Amino acid sequence: MTDCIFCRIIAGEIPSAKVYEDEEILGFRDINPAAPVHVLFIPKKHFANLGEAAPADQALLGRMLQVIGREAPKLGLSEGYRVVSNCGEPAGQTVNHFHLHVLGGRELQWPPG
Ligand code: AMP
Repeated sequence: MTDCIFCRIIAGEIPSAKVYEDEEILGFRDINPAAPVHVLFIPKKHFANLGEAAPADQALLGRMLQVIGREAPKLGLSEGYRVVSNCGEPAGQTVNHFHLHVLGGRELQWPPG
């Protein structure tokens, strides 16, 4: 999707601060961090959000969570972190390419705003 900013990051057309990459998943630092550590993990396959994921994406979604669990300590998040996905505009989704926010490095409040 040429009009998708995250697809353009995957394609290397827009620079990003990568922290993780494999054949299916990319992790890079959020350009507007909401915490000292704020990384986005995205599938290289484009779908807008969880509601748009296909049955065939089940393993990919599971792998994304496992990758985050493995990578979080390497990002300095051994003490704890939050994984969030904003699905749809009312929830705050601004980029329509599925992504998981990984946030940490400070005390996080609950409930979120
Ligand atoms: P959301 O609002 O949940 O859709 O999250 C989209 C996130 O993408 C926001 O936190 C933005 O700061 C981040 N973002 C947008 N453009 C870029 C970019 N070029 N590089 C890194 N992060 C970005």
